[in-house]
Amino acid sequence: MSVPSVGTPVQGAGEGEAVLSVENLVVEFRSGRRIVHAVSGVSFVVRRGETLGLVGESGCGKSTTGRALVQVQPPTSGSVTYRGQDLGRLSHRQLRQMRTKIQMIFQDPISSLNPRRRVCDIVAEPLNIWKRGTKQERADQVRKMLEAVGIDPDTAGGRRPQEFSGGQCQRISIARALMADPDLLICDEPVSALDVSVQAQILNLLADLKERFGLTMVFIAHDLAVVKNVSDRVAVMYLGKLVELADSDDLYRSAAHPYTEALLASIPEPDPDKRTDHTALSGELPSPLDPPSGCRFRTRCPYAEAICAEQEPPLRDVAPGHQVACHFPLIAVAANGSSAAADAPFVTPDPARPPDV
Ligand code: SF4
Repeated sequence: MSVPSVGTPVQGAGEGEAVLSVENLVVEFRSGRRIVHAVSGVSFVVRRGETLGLVGESGCGKSTTGRALVQVQPPTSGSVTYRGQDLGRLSHRQLRQMRTKIQMIFQDPISSLNPRRRVCDIVAEPLNIWKRGTKQERADQVRKMLEAVGIDPDTAGGRRPQEFSGGQCQRISIARALMADPDLLICDEPVSALDVSVQAQILNLLADLKERFGLTMVFIAHDLAVVKNVSDRVAVMYLGKLVELADSDDLYRSAAHPYTEALLASIPEPDPDKRTDHTALSGELPSPLDPPSGCRFRTRCPYAEAICAEQEPPLRDVAPGHQVACHFPLIAVAANGSSAAADAPFVTPDPARPPDV
């Protein structure tokens, strides 16, 4: 096996080719005699070269979804297919090998690094495990990868993780993840444990590395403002369900789900003249032990009607590439698939209007 080549940019990631397909993913845990419904039938596709943002409040199931994508958390049912291979059907050894292509970056960079090991050994770990290249080639590769993430190998290579800041540890984690030469990165809240001033640096680094290595990314975060800046498309999760999926610009310009609208309203607006009167999110996330009937958002939704408790809204198209799971979407459903919905004004559901299901 060869070592990955640092400094050889991969140009022009194509569009349309599915790298990852998730179909009807369900993850449930036992809690005493009860079942925690962490993820309940989530489906999406991640295309080559894109960044799919996965966003929602803490407890919505997005991190569990991320772990299920790499089978660290085995799904209860449903499938995760990476480049045509159903990960749930692979042997333990095949899965280990496949995980070199699908790497995860975690929220807490400091605790994800072994405090007793030197940085150069931590970063070299994937190559050592898979015995890639000669000793000298591995050492050269570690140097190049540390430089690629903005860490000086001469001063940092012999030190240990506790000697670094959170941002520097995240850079080291990213270097280690990239040493296995992956093409898919699952980033689970990679900046939420960092100072605001450092967050932008790590986001910029991830964007640069994505271009340089031709990566595809799933970017998981609770902060829509962060997700907006890094994602091509955004999937919004609520209590284990996907409630909206759209191109990033469409979602921010015209959210169709009341939950997305509320998340957007909670983003601080620096310009007071641009403040809106959209409804901010209120109330607590219900327990995944006992999700509400029908639409799971109904207990917090200002637009809820009787039907919302009775029937679960399916995920359906409101515009090309824009799907929402709501009986009363906040944008008009475009006739014959035109893009009119993207520019349609927000509408308040009319109680007299028959449910559009
Ligand atoms: Fe609100 Fe009903 Fe839509 Fe659910 S289906 S988001 S309760 S309007």
